Amino acid sequence: MSLIENTIYGKIDKVELAIMNLKMMAPIETGRSDKPYYVAYSGGKDSDVIRILCDLAGVKHELWHNHTTADAPETVRYVRQIPGINIRYPDTTMWDLIVKKKMPPTRLVRYCCSELKERNGNDRVIVTGVRREESRNRESRKFFESNEKYTNKRVKLDAEQLILNNDNTENREIVEQCIRQGKVIINPIIDWTESDVWEFLSHYGCESNPLYKCGFDRVGCIGCPMVNKKRYFEFDRYPKYKQMYIHAFQRMIDQNERKSDWKTGEEVFAWWMGEIKPTYKQQITIAEILDDLRYEYDL
Ligand code: SF4
Repeated sequence: MSLIENTIYGKIDKVELAIMNLKMMAPIETGRSDKPYYVAYSGGKDSDVIRILCDLAGVKHELWHNHTTADAPETVRYVRQIPGINIRYPDTTMWDLIVKKKMPPTRLVRYCCSELKERNGNDRVIVTGVRREESRNRESRKFFESNEKYTNKRVKLDAEQLILNNDNTENREIVEQCIRQGKVIINPIIDWTESDVWEFLSHYGCESNPLYKCGFDRVGCIGCPMVNKKRYFEFDRYPKYKQMYIHAFQRMIDQNERKSDWKTGEEVFAWWMGEIKPTYKQQITIAEILDDLRYEYDL
């Protein structure tokens, strides 16, 4: 495994550093909380790495997978056979959410992630498989924001102590905090490259999700708007998912009291895939979004 320059330890093996960080932040072992790590397990290669790292570190942890209803069948089957996995099934579906939100999920409006995947783990210390190489947006996150409100929560982390313990730029990027949901997020493999990941998994005999052998480089929801052009490849393999999106878009049009120029689910699907531009009347306005928010939250 490749080495990384760390301002505390100097050149250090990435696996060793990840294990040390997991031990240092472990909620139960350090007495910071009575609840173990909440490991966000997606069924992808990066989450296999954090699953194995938590075992190697010997820290108490729970594996949690949030089923999104748009996962590939291979991912569902792969996740189910992971020992000790907890699977949370949502009380809604991607297809009903599209109708309810009156728009398809987009790169900028990822309501599906917040409703189907990120509602859980409040007041927990969460371990993720986030890697900088994987997401430029995530890279810009800050290390840790001291937060008065958070220190009153059940998971009591001493923010000041954390900053002192990790007072260098490398480590400042592996711990984050979601103030709104009272979550502390640990990203132990934030600096790992894709080859680090595969080298580690091969060393520990983990073949990971079978979809990687079928041309997938990412195994999230089928049709995820974050994927762009690779969605064509996904919909070719899973045409039923394409039909389910089109059907949901049609219901979205039919059940929306606000009439627009969208006529068919196919038309919305083509716009969603970036094939056509919407007309003026097909676009939702800021005033309409505010109206919906007032209605939804009874303002
Ligand atoms: S489609 Fe993409 S943005 Fe939506 S829940 Fe799935 S992974 Fe998240």
